[in-house]
Parts: sequence; structure tokens; C-alpha cells
Amino acid sequence: MSENKKNEMTEEEYLKRHLSDLESGKKQAENAAINSDIPYVQQPEEVSRTTDLQFFNMDVRDLPCGEFYPTGTLFLVRPAQVREIQAYSMVDDNNFYDIIEKMNDMLQACVRIKYPDGKMGSYLDAKDQDRLFLIFLIRELTFQQGNSLVVNTKCGCGADIAIDLNRKHFVTHDIDEKLERFFNHSTKCYNFKTVNGKFFELTPPNIGLQKAFTDYIIKENNEKRTPNLSFLKIIPFMMPNRTSITYDGIKAKVKEFEEMDDISFQFLNSAVSKMTFGIKELKKNCECGEEVHTDMQFPTGASGIFVIHDAFEAYIKE
Ligand SMILES: [Zn+2]
Repeated sequence: MSENKKNEMTEEEYLKRHLSDLESGKKQAENAAINSDIPYVQQPEEVSRTTDLQFFNMDVRDLPCGEFYPTGTLFLVRPAQVREIQAYSMVDDNNFYDIIEKMNDMLQACVRIKYPDGKMGSYLDAKDQDRLFLIFLIRELTFQQGNSLVVNTKCGCGADIAIDLNRKHFVTHDIDEKLERFFNHSTKCYNFKTVNGKFFELTPPNIGLQKAFTDYIIKENNEKRTPNLSFLKIIPFMMPNRTSITYDGIKAKVKEFEEMDDISFQFLNSAVSKMTFGIKELKKNCECGEEVHTDMQFPTGASGIFVIHDAFEAYIKE
């Protein structure tokens, strides 16, 4: 089934597919129990899809960019399976683009979006600035038996504080109050009129669109061209309702951008700077009553989000 077709499935079709998968999965499991000594064979694709049933529903209001999805949208998120953790474990901790790509692969496997009209969407529709929050949600679902990832810090009172990297300790960026009155609740975009007679509609880009821009940056770098970084910061916010753009499409946007008047550029640059969402920092209460804050970080690198740091010591049988 093509990815597009999957995205257009209604809730009913989606459920039906899951139920038929569940049936076939159950029979396979029975057979496996009887023939427990048969040699391992590669499982057909249908079997792995039965795990889609472990999807957990999350209201978009719990996401840092929740306000920018249609009201009533649900995120369906499931734990990572071993083969997905295996793929993720190969991430190059020193390569930003590889980290983003491996995280996107994880979201592709574990995240579905259900719109209020019953249509299904993929991770490509998720806001780019929700990526990390979703990754940590998948992590929590995956390691429910423990495996905490801890950031060590100190309280002002001198006590050592260990903050677990999980949702209850995340502080997200507040939405800049200067932006609020320009928010259009039906389109989920900001509408701005500027003194030079221009009108701009801005919203945080989704992962699909941001991926197209990332591919563009990589291509420009590989071909020894310097991409226009200020363009790449601003333009993705100016394309609401888009989940993709071609290389030539971006080229045309660059040309438009470079011919923009000064007031428009200065305004857009400042507006986009106010649109920082996502996880801002970590917070935990100390026993003394003080709130302890520290930077969001990956104590064992980006790979450590799904790879157990001391698995050798943890799992060796002495
Ligand atoms: Zn304290």
C-alpha cells in the first residue's frame, strides 16, 4: 500500500485493517507456540503491523505546538520495536542531519495523526518543533519498566538533583504574548499586516516541509554552494498547509526572498524569531521547596535516547 493511500484512510478503514491484522497475528502466534522449536524465519510484513494496536492516544493540546493543529486532532503513538531501536542505534551523534533523519524514521514508524474528520495523517504532518517531544514520548512508552535517562544538577540549597528526561520535567517555550492577538483560530496561522501594505500568513512548519528544506541544504552543501541561511530560517514558516516542496520550488522561493523589500525582511525575521516552541528546559522540585531548572540535553548523546548506555553491566548474568 502506498504511503498516500494510507494517509487517506478513514478511521473505519484503519480499524478494519488492524482487526484483520490482529486475527492473522493471533493464528501465527498459536502456530508458533505449537512449533516452538522451528528455526527462526523472517516474519512477513502483516505480523509486524499487528503491533499498531498498541497505539496510545494523545490529545494535541499536550504537545508544545498543540495550538497549531486542527482542534480535536489526536496523535496515536506506540512504543518502538526492537528493529526500530536497532536502526536508530546507528545514529551518528555528531551529525545533526543524521540525528534528525533517525528521529524522523522513528516517528514514521511510531506516530499516526487522526484528524477530527476521521482522516489519518503521518508524522510528516507533525510540527517540526514537536519532534523531540514526540521522540521522548515514544521513549517513555518503550521503556515503561525503567531505563531512566538522568541529568544531574544542583539546587541553590546545595542538594544534588537528578532530573529524569521525561514529559513531567519538560518546560516548553511559552507563546510570545505579542503574537497572540494575530492568531487566527480557524486557520491556526498568524496573520500580519505590515506598515508597507503587505500581508503575511505564518505558522510553524511541519516535518514534511522541513525535510524538503533539509534535503535542499544537504544538496547545496554537497555541491559546494552556500545556502542562504536567513532564507532557510524564515521561508518554512511562510508556507502553511504545505507538507513538501521541490528543489526547483525552493530555488524560486530563494529568488523571491532575495528581492524582498527591507521592511518585509526585517519584520519577518523578527516575527519568526518569536516563534520558538518545543522543549525549553528541564524542571524539578527540590525537597527544600525550590524549583530547579537546567538546560535540555542528551546526557549520553542522541543515540542514548533509545540505546541503553550500560546495557552490558545491566544485562550480564554474573
Ligand atoms: Zn534545594
